[in-house]
Amino acid sequence: MPTKGTHRRLLRRAAAGCAAALSLALVCACGTNQAGSSSSAGAAAHPSASTSASTSASTSATASGSPSTHPTSHTAPATAPATTAAAPPPAAGAPSSGIAYGTATGGRTVALTFDDGPGPATAQILDLLAQYHAKATFCEIGPQAAADPAIVQRIRTAGHRLCDHTVHHPQPMHTLSHDKQTYEIDAAKDMIIKAGGPGTEVSWFRAPGGDFSADNRAIAVQADLRPLGWTVDTRDWARPGVDKIVDTAQRELRPGGVILMHDGGGNRSQTVSALAQLLPWLVQQGYTFDFPAS
Ligand SMILES: [Zn+2]
Repeated sequence: MPTKGTHRRLLRRAAAGCAAALSLALVCACGTNQAGSSSSAGAAAHPSASTSASTSASTSATASGSPSTHPTSHTAPATAPATTAAAPPPAAGAPSSGIAYGTATGGRTVALTFDDGPGPATAQILDLLAQYHAKATFCEIGPQAAADPAIVQRIRTAGHRLCDHTVHHPQPMHTLSHDKQTYEIDAAKDMIIKAGGPGTEVSWFRAPGGDFSADNRAIAVQADLRPLGWTVDTRDWARPGVDKIVDTAQRELRPGGVILMHDGGGNRSQTVSALAQLLPWLVQQGYTFDFPAS
């Protein structure tokens, strides 16, 4: 479903926009998902730049909207939802609207997250996770969950958790109307819950491409979902080679970090092979597997 060519172009545009000037009428996704960015312009924290530029995956285990580079600090295009004024205040006990950039418990833990599935690679990934008693969080595309309820149920019964990754994987997301963004989030959550069966919980929302905005974060909170970022972008979706994926994860991971990988959106054989190397490495390094802060 995600068009990686488009994804790449958007990321390039966003990176260019960030690096060039904040005055460009382009809200980039820069820095929306990387904790501990040291760049006020956000370019270094952009997912597309993270493998080369991000050396700053921080230890902020449960930072709440910690990056100073959130797009709210960028100039919003005229077409973007301007405010969240239309959204009613979150109910008591609602999740934080701050983007989660760390694990629930911190310390020497890691949260593995897989986006854009479920897909053909999901079962292999579940097999590997089971082999290492590892837990992970799956950020699913609603219709794909609806198309394969058995795999969603397998994810659940294996003790993994679920995250809402929209219906159509719109990129950029923030330019959609408030109503359309609401649909993307609410309908996907419904589809995932229906696929998973009674008792299914969806605890996070991850914007496609990390394109979080004040608006879609508020919508997520209304749906009882916490926005979920990442600290390590393996860029596995670009199929850079197994060694590169492994190397990026090993170099950039810090305790309490959140690793982004993909179980859908294309051929994920490199992801599966990389995971087969990363899991024993994580265990050997003394990491335990956790869920993101919620
Ligand atoms: Zn995605």
